[in-house]
Amino acid sequence: MKKINSLIIGQGIAGTMVAFLLQQKGLSVMVIDAGKKNTASRIAAGMFSTISGKRKIFDENLFEKQKFALESYRQLEKLLAKNFLYEENIHHLFHSGFEKTETLERMHDENFSGQTELNTSPIEYIKQEHGAIEIKNSGWIDCELMLNSYRNYLSASHCFSLADFKYDELEIKKEVFCYENFEAINIIFCEGYQQLKNPFFENENIIPCKGDMLTLKYANHGNIKILKRNGCFLIPTNDETVKAGSTYLWNNDNEQLLPSGRTEIKNKVNDILSDDFEIINHQTAIRPTTKNREVIAKRHSEHKNMFMLNGLGTKGIIQAPYYAKYISELLSVLK
Ligand SMILES: Cc1cc2nc3c(=O)[nH]c(=O)nc-3n(C[C@H](O)[C@H](O)[C@H](O)COP(=O)(O)OP(=O)(O)OC[C@H]3O[C@@H](n4cnc5c(N)ncnc54)[C@H](O)[C@@H]3O)c2cc1C
Repeated sequence: MKKINSLIIGQGIAGTMVAFLLQQKGLSVMVIDAGKKNTASRIAAGMFSTISGKRKIFDENLFEKQKFALESYRQLEKLLAKNFLYEENIHHLFHSGFEKTETLERMHDENFSGQTELNTSPIEYIKQEHGAIEIKNSGWIDCELMLNSYRNYLSASHCFSLADFKYDELEIKKEVFCYENFEAINIIFCEGYQQLKNPFFENENIIPCKGDMLTLKYANHGNIKILKRNGCFLIPTNDETVKAGSTYLWNNDNEQLLPSGRTEIKNKVNDILSDDFEIINHQTAIRPTTKNREVIAKRHSEHKNMFMLNGLGTKGIIQAPYYAKYISELLSVLK
């Protein structure tokens, strides 16, 4: 039996941040992930911003969480010698004169105006007949690069297993969790919406929310910034493609790729790009959301060294490091 501090189930953004923060504390980990391609973390746009929602609300609490998140991602970039974090303004294009007037009136609110810049210079090849504002303290993370790079790092030090975790093979002894040839003091479940299959944490009320993303080829790729309009966003990536998303189908865990998702995003992109574009990829995945948008970071009621981190919802990038730290602090005394 190999003795380790923590067994982590799932290597999405949640499992990645838990493992990374535990390793930073000098604790040994073993991460098990089934290797599914279309998971929320892998197809996510990776966008972050402290202004969100239709009403463009500034959330002070989120601002603090974001600060910690960005510091953590920078440290992870350093460890992996990769760049995956891009801090860039989001150009929010007004969809109507009404939206413009309503938003500009909000400029009297210091919290809101402190996070925004009025933008008057038009961007070429973009439809912006009602003008735009820029949202500061925003950006995006290349999630796939981050997850793959960390997975390679874990694999190189034999801390990663590409396998489906079998709940009925976990043996719970007095102070340890035995699984295959590992004996762990702690176990942390970070399975995303698939937590619904976890027999140790039942009735947790994870609500699956299906979301689609498109990858586009656009000849004027070099011109565009991170753009948002009418619930649709576009992110220019480094491989000269553009990510476009996304859809929100609440209470839906159907992983099938359906033409309706593609059409919905395509129509919204047509309101943003003034030239033709080509759709080169369409993906779908399921977000783990909760009823009150509250993240679930908790200890098991009976097994004191069993934990779960889930329910990151639509803001996995900002929330994961903060709640992973919370979990890591519960574990740290158990070294
Ligand atoms: C289309 C779309 C766009 C999004 N855009 C953004 C965005 O711009 N910004 C943002 O902040 N958030 C975004 N999100 C939300 C974000 O992706 C999620 O909040 C986040 O990825 C959830 O991460 P997670 O690690 O909890 O779950 P997941 O990403 O689902 O990861 C769970 C992992 O656990 C593994 N697993 C599960 N069960 C087992 C098992 N039994 N054995 C082994 N492995 C297992 C899975 O294979 C998976 O790798 C988006 C989501 C979608 C779908």
